[in-house]
Amino acid sequence: MLVRELEKIYQTLYSHYDDLKWWPAASIFEVIVGAILTQNTAWTNVEKAMERFEGNLSPSRILNLPIDELQEIIRPAGFYRQKSQYLKAVTEWFMGYDGDIDLIKNYSLQDIRAELLKVRGVGNETADSILLYAFDLPSFVVDAYTMRLFRRYPIDAGKTYLEVKTFCEEALPRDAKVYNHFHALIVHNGKEHCKKKMACSGCPLEEFCQKLP
Ligand code: SF4
Repeated sequence: MLVRELEKIYQTLYSHYDDLKWWPAASIFEVIVGAILTQNTAWTNVEKAMERFEGNLSPSRILNLPIDELQEIIRPAGFYRQKSQYLKAVTEWFMGYDGDIDLIKNYSLQDIRAELLKVRGVGNETADSILLYAFDLPSFVVDAYTMRLFRRYPIDAGKTYLEVKTFCEEALPRDAKVYNHFHALIVHNGKEHCKKKMACSGCPLEEFCQKLP
């Protein structure tokens, strides 16, 4: 039953918004950088920080930039002192594979995920964002928008990040495209309608959702 409800949410959002073409980035490495920069901030701030690389964003640049210069570039994304360290750490990890996506994908999703989680500054959501949107691997991303939607609808998928992730992965086809679209749709609808203060009028889920507080 819950599984069917989840599918209904996906189909309804997809019919309404279509393919949102996530993740908006020019390269795999840019997705990785974006996944770090977007922690605890709005995407508009990430875009401002990205622009300050002036088209020159590469692993070697991140590794070679003095830390204070990197901090200055990414300042609009907030928490720039921590994020500069995280960027260096995740870039070192990526370049441990020569930045070669095929080399990384020789390993199982679970092994790559476990390695990513050991990188400074990479938690569950960041690891899954990198796996899904940079490496195109079927790892469902859970975030505050997902939790809020499931609470209000409601979908009793669990309380913790891993419970909700596992529920969604077992309920949906194991397909990176589906996970990609679904997370993008949830975030988009969360920004349009399912905000902190819900704006249900016109929400594509209004007909089915219980709108719990
Ligand atoms: S109907 Fe309201 S509570 Fe339900 S998903 Fe839409 S905005 Fe959120």
